[in-house]
Amino acid sequence: MPELADRLRRLPPYLFAEIDRKKREVRARGVDVIDLGIGDPDLPTPPHIIQALQKAAEDPENHRYPSYEGMLAYRQAVADWYAKRFNVRLDPEQEVLTLIGSKEGTAHMPLAFVNPGDVVLIPDPGYPVYAAGAWFAGGEAHRMPLRRENGFLPDLGAVPADVARRAKLMYLNYPNNPTAAVATRQFFGEVMAFAQRHGILVCHDAMYSELKFDGYEPPSFLEIEGAREVGVEFHSLSKTYSMTGWRLGFCVGNRAAVAGLGSVKTNVDSGVFQAVQYAGIAALTGPQEVCEHYRKTYQDRRDVVVRGLQAIGWEVDIPKGTFFVWAPVPGRLDSRSFATRLLEEAGVVVTPGVGFGPSGEGFYRIALTVERARLAEAMERLKGLRL
Ligand SMILES: *Cc1c(COP(=O)(O)O)cnc(C)c1O
Repeated sequence: MPELADRLRRLPPYLFAEIDRKKREVRARGVDVIDLGIGDPDLPTPPHIIQALQKAAEDPENHRYPSYEGMLAYRQAVADWYAKRFNVRLDPEQEVLTLIGSKEGTAHMPLAFVNPGDVVLIPDPGYPVYAAGAWFAGGEAHRMPLRRENGFLPDLGAVPADVARRAKLMYLNYPNNPTAAVATRQFFGEVMAFAQRHGILVCHDAMYSELKFDGYEPPSFLEIEGAREVGVEFHSLSKTYSMTGWRLGFCVGNRAAVAGLGSVKTNVDSGVFQAVQYAGIAALTGPQEVCEHYRKTYQDRRDVVVRGLQAIGWEVDIPKGTFFVWAPVPGRLDSRSFATRLLEEAGVVVTPGVGFGPSGEGFYRIALTVERARLAEAMERLKGLRL
């Protein structure tokens, strides 16, 4: 057996494996563990979407290889959804690509544009796939710190000139995982100017655009005049329609970028099961009240957590989107010790911020993917802690 390749050995140690181990230990002691670490909706997929899959699965037409880029009808549904939601007009043939979940496309994009030694700008803290994708392509990931005092937006002026010169890609993600921060159109405008100046492809992960609260409407990067010249947006049905298990997403925007990613995919996968794409069409073109139901549920849970933390006297910003709460660790503990104490002494799992990158230190993340009553119980338990 040969040794693992450098690209795998270079990956940072998987912090979440350590948390999983501790979780098992505490459970084995008979503790009723409340797990607020999971970024996966607990709410089921709506029935009309499941029915569309069932019907399509019975049709032998759908049992054969799908097309690489996805059914035109699905890409048209994506384009129509973008027009309605963001007033952004997309050409379904050249500006929309079907993905096996957005993670897949996010991870593959650097293979299309990054040569060994090139730089990929990534948010820190951030979704770990951005760095992994950069490394797998032989690139170098340059972390852009997201600081609370800057609304968890990166300071583009702080990117060193030689790094900006070598950069090919920039990943952004708003509404943001893990910080739950949101971006303004003005910020997106600055990103576009930066990308134009340095010849960078912007990859905006817009995964949480539909998990929005208090009347807030997250913008699309592609709404910015000219953004299509420099960027693409990644999206999926996972969080919007509670479909994480279905593996269906899309990449939209710049033609050359969409084509580049498409070429990579042609060589590694054979597209998405057509029955799943029919289910996706049902999701995007069907009744959207389900999304409102999800939003209300998460917003209500958010309020339970925010009020709970405030009652203890712990600092917390009120998120306008996502199903996460991101808050500073109270007292002097680092985020890992804090998470360990919560697990050992209260049976509550939270994710230490440092797991998302060095700039996540000093924070922790709560996922709102458990029932309200369990969240309330978790807050009660935290109240009893003496840190
Ligand atoms: C959940 C998540 C994804 C993964 O989405 P899939 O479409 O299920 O692959 C991508 N980016 C972020 C920031 C996420 O939180």
